Amino acid sequence: MIPFNKPYMTGKELWYISQAHAAGHLAGDGQFTRHCSNWLESRIGCRKALLTHSCTAALEMAAILAEIQEGDEVIMPSYTFVSTANAFVLRGAVPVFVDIRADTLNIDEARIEEAITPHTRAIVPVHYAGVACEMDSIMDIARRYGLLVIEDAAQGIMSTYKGRPLGSIGHLAALSFHETKNIISGEGGALLINDASLVNRAEIVREKGTNRSQFFRGQVDKYSWVDIGSSYLPSEIIAAFLWAQMDEADAINRRRLALWSTYHQGFRRVEENGTCRRPHVPGDCAHNAHMYYLLLPDLERRTRFIEQMRAHAIGAVFHYVPLHSAPMGQKRGRVCGSMSNTDSLSERLVRMPLWLGLEDEQARIIHQATNALG
Ligand SMILES: *Cc1c(COP(=O)(O)O)cnc(C)c1O
Repeated sequence: MIPFNKPYMTGKELWYISQAHAAGHLAGDGQFTRHCSNWLESRIGCRKALLTHSCTAALEMAAILAEIQEGDEVIMPSYTFVSTANAFVLRGAVPVFVDIRADTLNIDEARIEEAITPHTRAIVPVHYAGVACEMDSIMDIARRYGLLVIEDAAQGIMSTYKGRPLGSIGHLAALSFHETKNIISGEGGALLINDASLVNRAEIVREKGTNRSQFFRGQVDKYSWVDIGSSYLPSEIIAAFLWAQMDEADAINRRRLALWSTYHQGFRRVEENGTCRRPHVPGDCAHNAHMYYLLLPDLERRTRFIEQMRAHAIGAVFHYVPLHSAPMGQKRGRVCGSMSNTDSLSERLVRMPLWLGLEDEQARIIHQATNALG
């Protein structure tokens, strides 16, 4: 069976972990955590990068920093992972779902303004498949209405929008290093902070609501409980693993892009035949080949396609069930306007296997998929 995903190891992970072990510092914020956050700050150009134990944790921190209160509203796509919404629902907010664009499957920036009410506090654009949302428009809307922008860049590491790295544009951003993402540590994530006024509090929230980070820098003479917070730090063992991946991030990105291009060329004819549609990447976006998907004509044909691929031992899979149609989304969220793109595209999308090492199998996958698309 060709699996849908297979975590890539660079070969240096255990070596770095053994160094963390030898250094005897296993809790968070040791030398490997510093390497990783420095790398993120210099590569992405964010003001501050704080490693977390997941992207979910980083989104929860963002919701605390945004001072989300009971009844506040947060605008987001429905076509996303549950954590995009959950992080805000945990603080009592109402997720307000806006439809996605048919071309990129990202939140439709032209539909955001009509979703704004006096309760709106934040916009959460999700960069689906590592392709940027239309950030200039989104930042402009946020400025005009005094809203915070929190980028869900879980899939967006090393992608850019008009030359700017994803995660460097919103007030806050969240990355994921889950084993299904491009750069991994099993579970893992980071909160990126671009609004300087949020940096101090972010450190406190991440350290159980204490000013421990300031204490270790000698800025205060004892540390104490000063705010709400939780334990969001990953251990040095995780950071050591992650550092091995960051060390090879450029090579990983290059190889993923090559796999993506092979699919894209391989499926050109079936798109021309009208049997499916390929991903669209706007000209001012550089993506990271996080995902290769195809859009089939309808749900029935997608179901059949996935079955046919399975019969040939190829793990092709669908993706999100839109949050507005899920039980919790209906109970705690609200929809603004038509969700026709979300409803239709989510039923028609299928993701192809994409992982380093797949190179030798790709011709067979493209051949079988082309046959199945008939
Ligand atoms: C993977 C993902 C998350 C969650 O990441 P974790 O690190 O598993 O918490 C959130 N949002 C999106 C869009 C994702 O793809």
